[in-house]
Amino acid sequence: MKNNWSKNFANKYIKKYKKLGFSKDLALRVYTTHLLGRNKELVLHGGGNTSVKTTIKDIDGKKYSVLCVKGSGWDMADIEPEGLPAVKLEPLLGLKKKKYLSDEDMVNFQKKNLINIKSPNPSVETFLHAFLPFKFVDHTHADAIVNVTNRPGALKFCNKIFGDKVGIVPYVMPGFMLAKKVYEIYSKNPKLNCLILMNHGIFTFADSAKEAYDLMIKYVSQAERAVRKLKSKKIKQIKKFSTKFNAHEIAPIIRGLLSENKDQKFVVNYRLNKHLKYFINGKNVRTYSSKGTATPDHVIRVKPFPLVITPKKNSSIEEFKITAKKAFENYRKKYIHYFNVNKKKAKGKKVMLDTSPRVVLVQNVGMFSVGKDLGAAKIAGDLTETNAKVITSVEETSNYRFISERDLFDIEYWSLEQAKIKKKKKLLEGNVVVITGSTGTIGFETYKMFKSYGAEVILLD
Ligand SMILES: [Zn+2]
Repeated sequence: MKNNWSKNFANKYIKKYKKLGFSKDLALRVYTTHLLGRNKELVLHGGGNTSVKTTIKDIDGKKYSVLCVKGSGWDMADIEPEGLPAVKLEPLLGLKKKKYLSDEDMVNFQKKNLINIKSPNPSVETFLHAFLPFKFVDHTHADAIVNVTNRPGALKFCNKIFGDKVGIVPYVMPGFMLAKKVYEIYSKNPKLNCLILMNHGIFTFADSAKEAYDLMIKYVSQAERAVRKLKSKKIKQIKKFSTKFNAHEIAPIIRGLLSENKDQKFVVNYRLNKHLKYFINGKNVRTYSSKGTATPDHVIRVKPFPLVITPKKNSSIEEFKITAKKAFENYRKKYIHYFNVNKKKAKGKKVMLDTSPRVVLVQNVGMFSVGKDLGAAKIAGDLTETNAKVITSVEETSNYRFISERDLFDIEYWSLEQAKIKKKKKLLEGNVVVITGSTGTIGFETYKMFKSYGAEVILLD
C-alpha cells in the first residue's frame, strides 16, 4: 500500500487551519484522517475513526486535556475539525476500572463531557481511543487486515505476519467492553504500537500523526504481502448463459418486488465489473455470500446476506418475473427466520426491520444494490464491492470465516448502529420523478420541490 504522506501537504493543512483558528494538532489530525479516509482499501463511508489528544481552552478560561475523536455522521474522507468533537479526557480515563457500562450510560457520559454540547455524538469507540496513551490513534477496516483475520487459523496467521509490536484482540462487539479488552491487552505489553481486531480492523497509535499513519500503511502492507504469498486457486464459476432481457429491463421488476406495501419504496443502483462478475457468478455464491460481511458495521447497510437470483437459461422477462418473485418470497422467509432465531439470544426487546434485501445479485446479469434513496443504494453497492473482493480473495486461498450470525445480528440490531442510518422519512422518499422542460424557471423550481421531499429527480429538457 502506498504511503501518501507529503510534508508539503501537511504544512498546507497546518497553515489553512491556523487561519481558521485551529491548532497544529487538529490540522494534522484532519490531514491524516483524509489520507486514510480517501483510500477505499482502508475505509468506506463513515467506517473507521481517528482521534488526537490535545488541550483546549473552555469558556471559563481554563485549559482542558481533551480527546478530539471522530463524531457520528462524519466521513473520514472529508472530515473537518467540527467533525472531531472534543471530550474532556480526565473523566473518560476515570472509568478505566469500571467493570461495565451500558450503551446508554456510555453515550450519556461521552455527551456530558463534551466541550461544546452542540458537537456531534462522539464515536462509539471513544473510550478505546481515550484508553490508549498516545496522542494520535488511527482506526480503519483495511481490506487486507480483514482478509487475514476472516479465515480459519487466523490467529496463528496473524502472529506469523506481524512482529512483536502488534497485539491481537479477539472479536468483541464495539463499545465499552471492547475498549476495556483493548486496554487490558495493551497494558500487558506497553511496547505495542498496533492492535489487530479479529474480524473487524486495525488500530495504530503514536505520538505523531505521521508515525501513526506510517504504521497503518506498514502493517496493512505486511498483510497484503502475506496474502499474495499464499497458494491460490480461482473459485469455480457457473457456465455463461444468455437471457432475453437486459439489466435495465429487470430493474423495475426488482424495484417493484422490494416494496412490501405502498408506503415502502426503494431506489436500486445497478453495476457490474470484473470483480463483481467473479463474485456473483461463483458456483458457491449462495454459500460464501451468506457468511457475512468484511467488517461488522457493513451489516446495517447490506443486511447479513444478499438475495441471489439465478435466471433460467434463455429466460424471457416474464419468466424472470416468476423466478424473482419466488426468490424474494424465500428471502423474506429466510430473514424472518434469522430474526426470530437471534432475537431470543439478544439482550432487550428487538423490533424486526423490514425484510427487503439491500443487495440483489442476479447471476450473469449483475448487482442491484438497494437503498431508501440513491445515496444509500450506492453506499450498499460500494460496501458489497469491498465485501466481494475480500470474500473471493479468502475463498481463493482458504474458506471465508466471519463472526457468528448471532454476533452479526447484535450489530445489525444495535441501537447505536441503527442511529447512524435512521433519518426521518421524507414524504417522497424512494420515488423517482422525471421532469420535462426542467431547465425553465417553473421546471427547475418543481425539481427543487420534489428534491426537498426526498424524491430522486431526473431532469429532461
Ligand atoms: Zn471499527
